[in-house]
Amino acid sequence: MNMKYFSIKELTKSATAQRKGIKNDPSIQEVANLTALIEKVLDPLREAYGRPIIVTSGYRCEKLNKAVGGAASSQHVKGQAADIRSMEDTPSENKKLFDLIVKLKLPFDQLINEYGYDWVHVSYGPRNRRQKLKAIKKNGRTVYMAV
Ligand SMILES: [Zn+2]
Repeated sequence: MNMKYFSIKELTKSATAQRKGIKNDPSIQEVANLTALIEKVLDPLREAYGRPIIVTSGYRCEKLNKAVGGAASSQHVKGQAADIRSMEDTPSENKKLFDLIVKLKLPFDQLINEYGYDWVHVSYGPRNRRQKLKAIKKNGRTVYMAV
């Protein structure tokens, strides 16, 4: 393991889990997935960006995923995804993270501009299809479109 900027702890902590008393403990496999996500995507991104990046959600056990309204098939449940944002938390600065992941040619499965760069979702493994998507609300439902 060679994690530089991010930790497993940072990718498993959750205010919702704390509040609801949910034990959000990843399995050995899920820790391995989180480690790969950090080493292959988050750390290189952070290195190139040169400034702190906030992880708002990483691993989510099934119970936590349900509690936050995540999709049942979410890669967060497998420890393969993270939601990130900039310190400024502005759409333009969050967009820089999205664009930098593409520019650096980092491996990823899905990279999602969530609701006008409210945050950026990035997942790693096992397929790494490099799908670039944007999520928008349509009639109260989330719709994903290729970008
Ligand atoms: Zn996400």
